[in-house]
Amino acid sequence: MSTEPDSVQSKVEVVFDPNVEAGADAGDLDVELLETETLETEAGADSDTETGAVNLRPASLSEFSGQAAVRERISILVEAAQRRSEPLDHILLSGPPGLGKTTLANIVAAECGVSLRQTSGPALERVGDLAAILMNLEPGDVLFVDEIHRLPKPVEEVLYPAMEDFAIDIVAGQGPTARTIRLDLPPFTLVGATTRAGLLAAPLLDRFGFVAYLDYYSDDELETIVKRSAALLSTPVTDGGATEIARRARGTPRIANRLLRRVRDYADVRGDGEADAATAARALEVFGVDEAGLDWLDRKLIESLIDKHGGGPVGVATLAVLVGEEPATVEEVIEPFLLQRGYLQRTPRGRIAGVRAYDHFGMPTPSGIQEELGV
Ligand code: ADP
Repeated sequence: MSTEPDSVQSKVEVVFDPNVEAGADAGDLDVELLETETLETEAGADSDTETGAVNLRPASLSEFSGQAAVRERISILVEAAQRRSEPLDHILLSGPPGLGKTTLANIVAAECGVSLRQTSGPALERVGDLAAILMNLEPGDVLFVDEIHRLPKPVEEVLYPAMEDFAIDIVAGQGPTARTIRLDLPPFTLVGATTRAGLLAAPLLDRFGFVAYLDYYSDDELETIVKRSAALLSTPVTDGGATEIARRARGTPRIANRLLRRVRDYADVRGDGEADAATAARALEVFGVDEAGLDWLDRKLIESLIDKHGGGPVGVATLAVLVGEEPATVEEVIEPFLLQRGYLQRTPRGRIAGVRAYDHFGMPTPSGIQEELGV
């Protein structure tokens, strides 16, 4: 373990007791750090923002449906670490919103029998915010950093020695008398989540022992999730009802649960309480989710792209203006599914409406677009 601070790394500047020597335990220092907005949760007991009173989050790997390869790999990591009584290696979870990154982070902590501390890239504005959290971890804890690609650079650089050596570098004093001391941290596991792994700097990416790429769920997997959630919500759902919800859920468990709640509302108010196929189809039509799972925003984006821009190519900024959203929302939330299903295509000159978009709206694909796509 090197005690020399890396020149590119940011140091935490704090007022400290000059009598304390380098390599001291974090607890020995009388440092005043900033209060931070972290949330400590009993692993697995995280509240689910969209579920109201009932928590639909699976609490163990065996309850977590889909993502079979990722599940298998995480279970191997957890078991290996437990057998050796070592902290689990750092894990990066990458994938579009709503696919289960937060859920998996909670499950990892639960399977390891440790606490989870949750924060996010944008919440860690200052180096001291992160230092305070790191110094308060218990040995083995999981630190979950959501949206890790949005960490400010100086804060990110504090993570490098923290992840690699379980230490942070502190600059004490000012001017020529300033000196750097290294503070030991308890061993911990960082679980980072990102919707944009491509934006992570190589030194950060390299420090994760395992990177899991979560992909959209199949309709069958979503059907299993819908049935599990319906049971937890005490809503009777038929196979046909679950299929109808699953196939409109855009490959995303969070959306499947949301649609299930709307179908449940409709079934309770306009039906006999049972979510069968016809009730689900009617409910989702009422709530503006079409046969393919496209909602109002998706349809507006595709229709405006075709009507106002001849199907493209256009840049993300233009797409954002078309739907009145931020470019980051288009890139991270709206377009990944549209790209994956062929409603949109990326070309060197920008985004264009895909063949599936024209099919969906019953329009012939223009020949120019076909050439662009090489169809
Ligand atoms: P992310 O952090 O990737 O945005 P979350 O972990 O918050 O996604 O998951 C969104 C919701 O979807 C959760 O509340 C959870 O109930 C549900 N969910 C996600 N993945 C699964 C899964 N594999 N099985 C069952 N439910 C899931």
